Amino acid sequence: MTDIASHRGGALLWPENSRIAFENTAKLAVEQVEFDVHPTRDGKLAVIHDDTLDRTTDGSGPVAARDWAELSRLTLKGTGGQRMLLLDEVIEIFRPTPIVLRLEIKCGPDREPYPGHPAKVMAALGQARVLERSVVTSFQLDTVVAAVAHGRPMSHVWLVLPQLQVDLGLDRIIAAAKAACVPIIGLRQNMLTESVVAAVRKAGLGIGGWACNDAAAIARLLDLEVDVFTTDRPDLAIAQRKARSKD
Ligand code: MG
Repeated sequence: MTDIASHRGGALLWPENSRIAFENTAKLAVEQVEFDVHPTRDGKLAVIHDDTLDRTTDGSGPVAARDWAELSRLTLKGTGGQRMLLLDEVIEIFRPTPIVLRLEIKCGPDREPYPGHPAKVMAALGQARVLERSVVTSFQLDTVVAAVAHGRPMSHVWLVLPQLQVDLGLDRIIAAAKAACVPIIGLRQNMLTESVVAAVRKAGLGIGGWACNDAAAIARLLDLEVDVFTTDRPDLAIAQRKARSKD
């Protein structure tokens, strides 16, 4: 069965990476919840997608340039006044559920890695005793490798940007993942075909898809029987998967 991950807590259904989104996702029949983690200036771990505040909050500028005391006073757009959450708060929302935490370890502006950030995220997961129910992801292979050097999650995934897949070619992507002992790669849904999935599986790697945000993309990824995909419409994905199981 293909696992479904509610991307940013279901970003087309609720304000992304918000308490509303996560509390609603916690009630869904999804296997995973995806969210993004940036560091604050004072070393806390904040759940927000962008490296800047402008798009999703009433603040502006880089997330990592502010202390949590300042960030916690901002409101998330579309939430009716809710603030952003800390990693620990998201963990607690999902603790009573069977849903796996699919964390993306983010980097800073211009894709500069934050020093020590992967280690801090892994330490936080370890302290909260949720490592074994966490899947660690990043678009930076080095970040994935740095993370698993500091703790053993349930799994870890290298997310591959389409341009990199084009530039390097699938064979070199697979070779890089294997050399780094990363067991799963995640490709953008439009970059996945039967032959791509077959090649990744033949190499002994797991295969995920991301950005499966409409009915057609969801159907295609279910047809391809990938291991997991992230979607902003977990409701559609659940309904489609359920309809197939009745066929
Ligand atoms: Mg993400």
